[in-house]
Amino acid sequence: MKYIKAMYISLIESLGIHTTDQLYELFTTKQHGIPISCHRAAIMQSRVFFFSVIFAVLVPVWSVIDLLYLPTELWRELLLIRMLAAVCFALIAWRSREEPDLMRARILLAAMLAVTPLFYLLSDHFIADHQLNDTALILAEIYALLPFVMVAGLTLFPLAIMEFLVYALPIFIVVGYSVYPETSAEIPEAVSTVWLLILLLGVALFASMTQLRYMLSQVSHASYDVLTGMLSRRAGIEILELQFRLATMSEKPLSILYFDLDNFKAINDTYGHDTGDTVLRVASQQIRDTVRKGDSVIRWGGEEFIVILPTADHTEANDVITRIMLAGLGDRPDGAPVTASIGIAEVQQDRLKDWKSQVELADHRMYTAKSNGRARCVGVGGQAMEWVIALDESSGF
Ligand code: GH3
Ligand code: MG
Ligand code: MG
Repeated sequence: MKYIKAMYISLIESLGIHTTDQLYELFTTKQHGIPISCHRAAIMQSRVFFFSVIFAVLVPVWSVIDLLYLPTELWRELLLIRMLAAVCFALIAWRSREEPDLMRARILLAAMLAVTPLFYLLSDHFIADHQLNDTALILAEIYALLPFVMVAGLTLFPLAIMEFLVYALPIFIVVGYSVYPETSAEIPEAVSTVWLLILLLGVALFASMTQLRYMLSQVSHASYDVLTGMLSRRAGIEILELQFRLATMSEKPLSILYFDLDNFKAINDTYGHDTGDTVLRVASQQIRDTVRKGDSVIRWGGEEFIVILPTADHTEANDVITRIMLAGLGDRPDGAPVTASIGIAEVQQDRLKDWKSQVELADHRMYTAKSNGRARCVGVGGQAMEWVIALDESSGF
């Protein structure tokens, strides 16, 4: 038992997995943040594009070989299917040039993977109607290899285990269906084909997971601030751009909160930089614990943070501020509460034209909060809420 556990741990660690969270991230995409999802969508779509273009060209070109070795009638039937498949691939390639989006990337990959087995099943149906000579039989056998080509294709995509299984299942069913033995003499071949498929799927799953693991570590290094665990400014800008576009397209609200910790320099000056770091870490943890899962928390500068609240109007933004004030941002080394000056800006109500003007407006309101005495928030329309008030009554504005 101990030996099995040690084997399991070294196997998992060979994949670069050291925590259960990392294992969970490889299993499902539920806990993937926006940076990894965006990055993965872009990579998946560009690979789908590449392969769809190749298939859109190669599938009809292959009919020259069909013409040389297959009966003319069968060649004609296959040509029709080939043209159909080429059109499907061209359509998929065209759609994969659209803006990266994880759901779109998944659907396009599924569509690309579906065309080949369908093409295979249809051609198998026509081939079965013909008496073929030896060369033609070899060609027909090549058709039977198409699902394996698809499995090989899966190795090129960074997928979580659950996603991989969803893609692999239809391929498995198609192969199972086509080799299903009708007589006992066909059983050995069916078993060996299915066994080969399982082995290949195992290798493909490993390749897919390894890519995902690598991508997760790269993206997390590039996208998260080491001290606070918040999104880095660069990753934050990408999310601000994306959320702004989504909000204006769907005409839904989008609020951002601009935080600047009050008199923070004094902590560094009096207690040292390390103490300042600890205060920063606690404050950021408090904010991250208080907001929703779909919200993004960015370290915009030294002690300045931006929180993005998708679909939240100014009332909901005020509620979030109240929650943060009530939870607090931790204590200063002298025991006084850490406070911040906060500015809110909301896309629809403030009639903002781009994400930069939203950040500028929130920053401007934060400065108003500073000059009005700190430890307060200035919201849409210049409404103000003092930190102490929120602590006394859990009301909003
Ligand atoms: P105000 O209320 O006007 O915002 O006063 P403040 O002291 O917070 O403002 P100021 O911008 O003068 O100071 C911010 C300080 O934050 C200055 C800088 O040394 C400190 N700082 C920035 N990044 C870090 C960091 O990563 N760790 C630590 N310990 N301090 C940092
Ligand atoms: Mg500052
Ligand atoms: Mg400050």
